[in-house]
Amino acid sequence: MRSKLSIAIDGPAGSGKSTVARRVAEILGILYLDTGAMYRAVTLKALQDGIYLDDHEKLTALANQVELKFKKMSDGAYQLFMDGKNINEEISSFVVTENVSQVAAVSGVREALVQRQKQIGAESGVVMDGRDIGTVVLPHADLKIFLTASLEERAQRRWLELKAKGINVSKQKISEDLKQRDAFDSNREISPLRPADDSITIDTTGMSIEQVTEKIVNLSKHNQN
Ligand code: C5P
Repeated sequence: MRSKLSIAIDGPAGSGKSTVARRVAEILGILYLDTGAMYRAVTLKALQDGIYLDDHEKLTALANQVELKFKKMSDGAYQLFMDGKNINEEISSFVVTENVSQVAAVSGVREALVQRQKQIGAESGVVMDGRDIGTVVLPHADLKIFLTASLEERAQRRWLELKAKGINVSKQKISEDLKQRDAFDSNREISPLRPADDSITIDTTGMSIEQVTEKIVNLSKHNQN
């Protein structure tokens, strides 16, 4: 197995990218990088510091300064630490989810985070998931995947995920939130959500996590240079 294998996984919210990307990385023995968590971290910090989300200068400075580290926990999973504090739970909160797309549309924020992501990609083999990985962050990735699923199924998956955490929200509300975030991410000026020209689209509607993982691992074996 090539240690510098790079795999880009993009797709809309709730398409199962993170779960699948993490498993693929585990199987292939390479790093997993959740780029959405980085945009969420900057959003969390901005909210904590009382920065207005239309103050692009302050948001850019924050994205350049904040210390972000993924640390391996005892169960083998990586969790995100910001300025030394574990923020894994906080970045999944509703308030962060509701505001992250606005922060991620700021060019200075993207430049700062993309630079960090590219550096990690240059240093080691990696599976990265996000919205612009195949188009901007890893344009020369060995394999580019675009994961989709019907809105109904994505809402159902998110609903089950939240229910397991004891959070009760209607599927209707989840579905509206997903739709709104996708529209914002797809229509922004800089690095909008879209499949790279050389990506392979997998519609995961009706597929299990195991099936999607296996498909990507098999594709990666055919795509090694
Ligand atoms: O993947 P996740 O849902 O955690 O991403 C949260 C948000 O971060 C997305 O809705 C999008 O606005 C932004 N994002 C991005 N580019 C990435 C990853 C995430 O713009 N590579």
